[in-house]
Formats: sequence, structure tokens, C-alpha cells
Amino acid sequence: MQLHLVVNTFGSDLQRRYGEKIYKLTLHGGFSCPNRDGTIGVGGCTFCNVASIIDESIQVNTISQQLAQQAHQMKKSKRYLAYFQAYTSTYAEVEILKNMYEEALNSADIVGLCVGTRPDCVPDEALNLLASYQAKGFEVWLELGLQTAHDKTLHNINRGHTFDVYHQTVQKARRLGIKVCTHLIIGLPKETKQDNLMTLDRVLNCGVDGLKLHPLHIVEGSIMAKVWRAGRLDILSLEQYVDIAGDIIRQTPAHILYHRISANARKPTLLAPDWCENHWQSMNAVDHNLRQFGAQGSAINDTYHFKQSKDSIDNLGS
Ligand code: SF4
Repeated sequence: MQLHLVVNTFGSDLQRRYGEKIYKLTLHGGFSCPNRDGTIGVGGCTFCNVASIIDESIQVNTISQQLAQQAHQMKKSKRYLAYFQAYTSTYAEVEILKNMYEEALNSADIVGLCVGTRPDCVPDEALNLLASYQAKGFEVWLELGLQTAHDKTLHNINRGHTFDVYHQTVQKARRLGIKVCTHLIIGLPKETKQDNLMTLDRVLNCGVDGLKLHPLHIVEGSIMAKVWRAGRLDILSLEQYVDIAGDIIRQTPAHILYHRISANARKPTLLAPDWCENHWQSMNAVDHNLRQFGAQGSAINDTYHFKQSKDSIDNLGS
């Protein structure tokens, strides 16, 4: 699979800019989540069980230990991005954030930070801190979980924030020149393909630098697991997911970087759909759809710049 020929991927962009592969090392900063501890809500987003995406046991190690351990296991790369992934990685006093981020940035072979968080949990102090690292030449990405631009769905899945809050945070980040990657879920309850395309449109109108697409998948320990077990939740087939993801990518301007076009989880934590167990199956299927019906940006006649970057990628032989 050569996904970079049909999608402007983050991995290829990093390789082009740094002249080598840059991998993300995932970190657990020991943060909590305001949608779980009662500050904003309790119980969390209905699809969420953080333990399904990150190994909770790694947080007993310091940030530099976590980085060293993963870098040691990762044989394919020499330089890395430190990815604060678990829970809400801006949810602490700014001095704590500073210590943690700088422990990562001062570790060997780290070129920058990706910080995953909620749109309603990014104070100006945290943004200024991230902007200061960018000013020093580090790669910095703010990864915002939005999932959908529809307030009704945001309410139904217990996100605890509205689209407007996301919009305001993106505006502030972009004013400081911080790159934003927005996470979206395809297949949320009661949402149609039209709803997904409308979400894309609204996110693009706010301005965004990167996107991550995930299929809704049901994990053990989430609120949705109970609803799914009761037979009250429809889950997308692989074909339905690929059809929607393909159209979203075709309607995405060519300069926007895709950090992810699918997601996976392992059984027994993964309950449904079965196809989410195999990351490559869905990646290949989306790749095939894009080759067949048009690459990123093709639905909006925006492939010129993409072709330029594709040629650069090809020259690097990636
Ligand atoms: S998805 Fe993020 S914001 Fe929602 S409950 Fe899980 S950790 Fe908290």
C-alpha cells in the first residue's frame, strides 16, 4: 500500500521535512479528564475507555523513561515526536505541564510534541507554552478531540462541550501559529454520511492543519458497550466506513495532513465491529477506494498542490 500517493499523510510530510522517518512515541502523563472527575461531567464520553488506547501501566515511569523504553523498542526510526495521548494532556497547572513537556523535549532524539486534549480544556497559558516551544524550532501539534460538529450528537455522547467552544480554541491556537489536528469519529449514533460531510465542512471553515479519522468502535468498559449489548446501537460495516471516509478525504483540501484514516483495537477489549481489529484491512480498503474514485481533494478540484507534494515524496523514494 502506498497511501501517500492518494492522501497527504502526516508521516510523508514529516519525512519530507526532516529527511527521515519520524515516529510518534505515546506517553501517559498521569493526567485525568474533566469529563470523568466531575469537573465537567462524570462517566466520560460514551465511546471512551482510555485503557483501550493506551497502556495504563506505563504511567508509573517518568516521561523520559517512557520515551527511552519505546525508542528502544522502535527500530525503524532515529527521531521522534513525543505524543501526550492519554486522557486530557493539558489538564493541569501550567507549571506541571511545563515540567512534563520539557522533560520530553529535553530527551534525546525528540523533535517535538503532539498534545491531545479537549477543546474546552486549553487555557491561554497552555497555548502560550506550546507556542514558545514552536518558536524554539520544535514541531508542535495541538490534537483536539471534537468527534462531530453537531451539538446534538456532542450532547448525546456526553462530550460536555459544544462546537462553538472548539471553534474558539482553534482560533486562539491558530492566532499563535500552533498547528491543530482535529479528531473525528465516523459512525456516531444517529449520524449520517451527510452529517459527517457537514462536520468536515465546519471544521475546514474554522481552519485546521491536520485531521484524524476514526470509525466508531465499541470497547469494553465504555457506556456504549452497554447500549451495544442491549442491541440498541448500529455499527458501520467496513464498506460503509470506507465509503464515508473516502468521500471525506476527497472533499478535504490537498494541503491538510491526514494523521490517521482509521483506527483499531484489540480483542477482548474491542467488542465491535470485528473489522476494527485489523488496522491494515481498513487502511487498504480506504486506499483502494481513493485509487478507484479519486484522491484527496479531487472532489473539490484541489489536487494541484497535492501532486506537487506527491512528486516530492516520490523523489525521496518513500
Ligand atoms: S474521550 Fe477524552 S474527553 Fe472523553 S472521557 Fe475519554 S479521556 Fe475524557
